Amino acid sequence: MIVLAVESSAHTFGIGIFDGKKILANARDIFSTEQGGMIPNEVAKHHMAVKEKVLVEALKEAKLTMKDIDLISYTQGPGLAPALLVGRDFALALAKEYKKKLLGVNHIAAHLEIGLFCTGAKDPIFLFCSGANTQVIVHEDKYRVFGEALSIAVGNAFDKFAREIGLGFPGGPKIEELAKKGKYVALPYSVKGMDVDFSGIVTRATQLYKKGIAKEDLCFSLQETCFAMLIEVTERALAHCEKKEVLLIGGVAANKRFSEMLEVMCKQRGAKAFTVPLEYAGDQGAMIAYQGWLEKKREQKEFDINPKWRVDEVETFWK
Ligand code: ATP
Repeated sequence: MIVLAVESSAHTFGIGIFDGKKILANARDIFSTEQGGMIPNEVAKHHMAVKEKVLVEALKEAKLTMKDIDLISYTQGPGLAPALLVGRDFALALAKEYKKKLLGVNHIAAHLEIGLFCTGAKDPIFLFCSGANTQVIVHEDKYRVFGEALSIAVGNAFDKFAREIGLGFPGGPKIEELAKKGKYVALPYSVKGMDVDFSGIVTRATQLYKKGIAKEDLCFSLQETCFAMLIEVTERALAHCEKKEVLLIGGVAANKRFSEMLEVMCKQRGAKAFTVPLEYAGDQGAMIAYQGWLEKKREQKEFDINPKWRVDEVETFWK
């Protein structure tokens, strides 16, 4: 069975194709700005403008036509409503035109499952760190969220700080680059039980920037502090659940320093650290296609969007 999928929940408009064994295409076009952040209507306009082009690229990459596709899946949520609507409408139109079955899937479940598919991890603690989400997750009878960011997610915290100091969007990669030349300055470390809170750190880092502390030092310290907080709660989840694997996923998993810190912690605990490969770390269509394939037996009649759909509400019948 060949699945074609549409991802549009945030900055990325992606089309992925999966044939049940391998990923045949993972085409995408990413919204970016030099200044400012992600304005939902601007992101939706971007997706409208690139959707046909990305579809053509994906089919070309897979050497297929729409006739070869058996199932279409799309990101039903969570995400930015205007952006989700563009993807849903596009998927619905394709399904109608080519008479294909359609399924809406959960974007976060897709991040987790593609992580398992790519790394071979079996039953890990998932450390999911993207732009909009930061969660420590484990699968029991459903996905269970063990801990999460109380205010803003780690990716958004990086993007926010980057915006404050004029680095543009997305901020994470630029912060990682500057951090290489930085040294440590103290920032608030905020772990509350199994949850983490990044808003105070961004406020403090911005204040210090305005007082003249070097960008490089603040980027380095922001990374060290945020990652240490996340590793602390992950370590506790590992101990509590008696798991032997941790899987780092989401766009922030692209950060080398983060995966390095995770590996050190796992080594000390006799656990194995996995990091999702870069191509599948951020948002992309391949993970939505893979998730559609996992759920291929499900029937769906209503094709809504669900901007606030949490991963712990997903029925994981395919597990
Ligand atoms: P979600 O998947 O929850 O909808 P999203 O679509 O914004 O959120 P992703 O595409 O998974 O998220 O990740 C994007 C985030 O990853 C951005 O916040 C970006 O700054 C961050 N990011 C990307 N590369 C790096 C890096 N090298 N270091 C740190 N953060 C990074």
